[in-house]
Parts: sequence; structure tokens; C-alpha cells
Amino acid sequence: MIPFQIDPAGWAHGATRVASPNFDARPPGVEVDLLVVHNMSLPPGQFGGPAIAAFFTNTLDHDSHPFFEQIRGVRVSAHFLIRRNGEVVQFVSCDARAWHAGLSEFFGRERCNDFSLGVELEGADDVPFDAAQYRALGQLIAALMARYPIKAIAGHADIAPHRKTDPGPCFDWLALQQACRLPGRYFPYQAGMPDAAAASDADPGASRQP
Ligand SMILES: [Zn+2]
Repeated sequence: MIPFQIDPAGWAHGATRVASPNFDARPPGVEVDLLVVHNMSLPPGQFGGPAIAAFFTNTLDHDSHPFFEQIRGVRVSAHFLIRRNGEVVQFVSCDARAWHAGLSEFFGRERCNDFSLGVELEGADDVPFDAAQYRALGQLIAALMARYPIKAIAGHADIAPHRKTDPGPCFDWLALQQACRLPGRYFPYQAGMPDAAAASDADPGASRQP
């Protein structure tokens, strides 16, 4: 069974859809070739609540927590959120431009929202992510790569280094490489990633060797 499949309109079957109004059209003729990994939690450091989805749909009650006052009026989104248990929520069609990267640059190309997909992992910089999140992200990347010419995976901090720190030091890039089994060249900001993901016990291909 393929956990996720991207439909012709850019929505992932297998993900929970919560449509956000915070998107617009990508510039014509621009290919989607970058995937940006983020982390977020609302309130910061608290997991499992409805606040991220409310924030991305402009329905957050900003009076319900002191931190929420700081993000009043902010209109942002991401294509996907992966919750701590691995549940994937999609807010914006992959064909559209979500508002996740902000002021950003990828090897000289500015405005990364134009040509990227944004995936938020529910989390915080100083908290390890759950194995279910790496698994879901690996499966999601496989589905996205079947549809879009993704050539690189970067962290938000890589493309906005003076403003952003996410996904943070607890994000395990090698674990992601294991989960999506991509060569090291897909991770241009991560020094020393192996050229090929090592075969693991979880790799079904390994047992097919004669
Ligand atoms: Zn971010």
C-alpha cells in the first residue's frame, strides 16, 4: 500500500485536508524542486492541540493564550503539517504557493515559496522528533517526488539563516535520509551525508538480495 498519493490537483490522498486561505499562485513556469523542513508548535513547546490548524486557517483565538497575541494578524501556511503521531495534515495544494519560507534564499534563488513545498513537523528546536514523524515525512517525500522534480531538501534555517533556526539541532537529518533513502546530494546543506542511504533491517530491498 502506498501511504500517500498526490492527486491531479496537488492534494495528497492519505493526508487529512484542512484547507487554508493563505496561499496564492506560483509564478508561471516555475518548477517545484525544493522541499523545506520546518518545525513549529503552538503555544511554543506544547504539542497536540488545535492551534496550528487554527493559525493556518486564520481562526485562532488570539486572546486564548498570551503568546498568540504576538502572532495576531500574521497570515501564513505550509503545505503540510506532520503531527507527533505521524498524522499528516495538508493545508495548501502542492500546485499552489504556500506562505512558509518568508524572506529566503536557496543558492542565490530568492523567494523560496515560489519553487518549494513546505512541511512543518510539530515540534520545537530542543525536543527530539518522534520516529513516526520521520516515517511519515519519508513516505510523503516519496509521494511528492513521484509528482514534482524535487532536487533538494533543506531546513528553514538553511534558507533563512539570520531569521530562523528550525527544524533545529534535534532534527536528525540522517534519520530522514534513512526514511526517504535519498543520496546525500539531496541534502546540500548537510555536510558528510553518505552518498547512499545505508541498508537497514527496515529496507525491504535488502532481503531481496540473492
Ligand atoms: Zn520554519
